[in-house]
Amino acid sequence: MSSLPSPSFVPHEAPSFYGLTRARLAERLAERGLPAYRAGQLFSWVYHKRLRDAEGMTDLPRALRRDLVRVCDLRLPRTLSVRASRQQETHKLVLELEDGARVECVSMRTARRLTFCLSSQIGCALRCSFCATGLMGLKRNLRPEEIVAQVIAMGDLHGWQDERFNIVFMGMGEPLANYHAVLEAIRILHDPQGLNLGARRITVSTSGLVPQIAQLAEEGLQLGLAVSLHATTDALRDQLVPVNRRWPLAGLLAAAKAYGQRTGRRVTIEYTLIAGVNDGPDDADRLAAFARELPSKINLIPYNPVPGLSWRRPGPDAVEAFAARLYPRAPAVTVRQTMGDEIWAACGQLGGLGTEP
Ligand code: SF4
Repeated sequence: MSSLPSPSFVPHEAPSFYGLTRARLAERLAERGLPAYRAGQLFSWVYHKRLRDAEGMTDLPRALRRDLVRVCDLRLPRTLSVRASRQQETHKLVLELEDGARVECVSMRTARRLTFCLSSQIGCALRCSFCATGLMGLKRNLRPEEIVAQVIAMGDLHGWQDERFNIVFMGMGEPLANYHAVLEAIRILHDPQGLNLGARRITVSTSGLVPQIAQLAEEGLQLGLAVSLHATTDALRDQLVPVNRRWPLAGLLAAAKAYGQRTGRRVTIEYTLIAGVNDGPDDADRLAAFARELPSKINLIPYNPVPGLSWRRPGPDAVEAFAARLYPRAPAVTVRQTMGDEIWAACGQLGGLGTEP
């Protein structure tokens, strides 16, 4: 990662518009003697009418249009590349940030919904042993505007034709390790005068930062929570998801249960199936027992290969057998359809693979 500014991006003095909540934008406008409702007008122009040039914002006073550049910066990161899967249902975008860092995000379309998978960090410190992002180590946290910009880039790509879409924080990084920026971005996306994205359409996925799960439960938002479990014994989870050594399974499941009870939402238990490692009948039985402990659903993810790592995806029969063993014992089970693995866009594959423009 270069520490030099990208040649395409000369920093402005004003903060990025996309990292400002409406309240914070109103404060900046008030410093110039302007009323709070101007912040709502700006949100409407940018997030509803998709205008990113102050000149066209015809209901704003001419002086504000001229001076807006001192209040906030309306420019967005450049989209460096877009790769589409063979069926065109998955797109992987690479955005170039102000310091030259590159962030990856993925849009996925199924018959039922459009979902944007967002990154929260460049790289990741948690180093889960099967994940391409973990191999990078942590480069830096993303700022709120760099998270919101991913949604806008993917919305632009799809022409904003979908009235509704979901977002999941399952891209690069551990979102709860960048808690404040992620929550600030969520508040901006959730704003009824902005994109008005319902909290129930937003899922935060964690590898198990127990204190932050408890904190998230108290935010008063009905965000979806996904817990990346991947193993049902501490011995195996210590290897696959090393953060387990800090917060072992019992505490994680207690926090997830409390989250589900506090928010009234079922917690998604993510379970990556790795051949010969965690896909046996005993694993299925223990997983079902965990799932019965809390309001939950299980999402099975057949492993997506990463170059340089020796883990393997189980065959379709093994995946089916594992799911079949869970069905009568666990509350709800889905097998995630593998999407975008041929463009390195699937779960666990974000980390600079196939990202050259
Ligand atoms: S799986 Fe998630 S938490 Fe684990 S290393 Fe990859 S990005 Fe980080």
